[in-house]
Amino acid sequence: MTSPNDSSPRTYPDGSDAFPHHNLLDIAGLQPWEIEYLLDEAEQWVDLNRQSSKHDDRLAGLTVINAFFENSTRTLLSFEIAGKRLGADVVNMHAAQSSIKKGETLIDTAVTLNAMRADAIVIRHGSSGAVQLIADKVDCPVLNAGDGSHEHPTQALLDGLTIRRRKGNISGQTVTICGDILHSRVARSNIICLRTLGAIVRVVGPPSLLPAAIKELDVEVYTDFDAALKGCDVAMMLRLQNERMQGQFIPSPTEYHHLYGLTEERLEKAGGDILVMHPGPMNRGVEIVSSIADDPERSTITEQVEMGVAMRMACLDILTRRSRNVEGWT
Ligand code: ASP
Repeated sequence: MTSPNDSSPRTYPDGSDAFPHHNLLDIAGLQPWEIEYLLDEAEQWVDLNRQSSKHDDRLAGLTVINAFFENSTRTLLSFEIAGKRLGADVVNMHAAQSSIKKGETLIDTAVTLNAMRADAIVIRHGSSGAVQLIADKVDCPVLNAGDGSHEHPTQALLDGLTIRRRKGNISGQTVTICGDILHSRVARSNIICLRTLGAIVRVVGPPSLLPAAIKELDVEVYTDFDAALKGCDVAMMLRLQNERMQGQFIPSPTEYHHLYGLTEERLEKAGGDILVMHPGPMNRGVEIVSSIADDPERSTITEQVEMGVAMRMACLDILTRRSRNVEGWT
């Protein structure tokens, strides 16, 4: 990972080196200034999305395929709205998770999508690495909308945008990520993104849900939620990813709530001005209580959804600039 202190210059005289990647598969491959460039570009779309007329036709004539092999509400809708607001023809392909497996079938699907001459393909898949596998087989840019417990780069970018807008900057903020770190691609992408941009990251959860190698990601590890909350600026709550659990990882949701649920008492005890985030979907009463989740002063949950559309518009715009022959993007 790039050191947070790496302050390479962010000068893009002709824009050509601003984002030198063909795909957006993970945060791990991005330099700090590339992440900041993506966040900067999203700001214009936040503004447009707040107008009554939300159209920009720069992707007119292009086809974006959303290929989702795993369930999604906000990510799929968000990519669909993002593509449509930019004028693209957007097609959604839903595939039951159980019917398609890694290997030949997935490669065949990739070859089929490629033959349809998509201009960008957005993929969600239940297996870590599956999106890379497809990206290797297609010509157009591929955007990872979540692969197994590996990465969910646009989620980390939209979360970064939300933090930056609320707190003014990301560097120097202390962010506590709480819950099922082991199975969460949101946690992984956020840890890498936040550390790359110079935030201090704490992770907290039951020992059974903390990966053994978590320290390699340069985070502070806690099992005591109150200690992890004390003095932090942002609390990012995660859902228990039951669909990825094989076996029993927690005694019960009630017990989990008792130790790791974000409650009024806990937030008050931690003190300070803690911003509460959650990528959704929430399990109310398990990792977070409704009175906090529904309070827009303290919680950014709906703002994160709003930032998601803007962030995905920025990603689709940037990744199609080469095929659109935008000046400076060769
Ligand atoms: N929506 C996020 C994801 O796809 C988080 C979650 O499902 O809990 O990973």
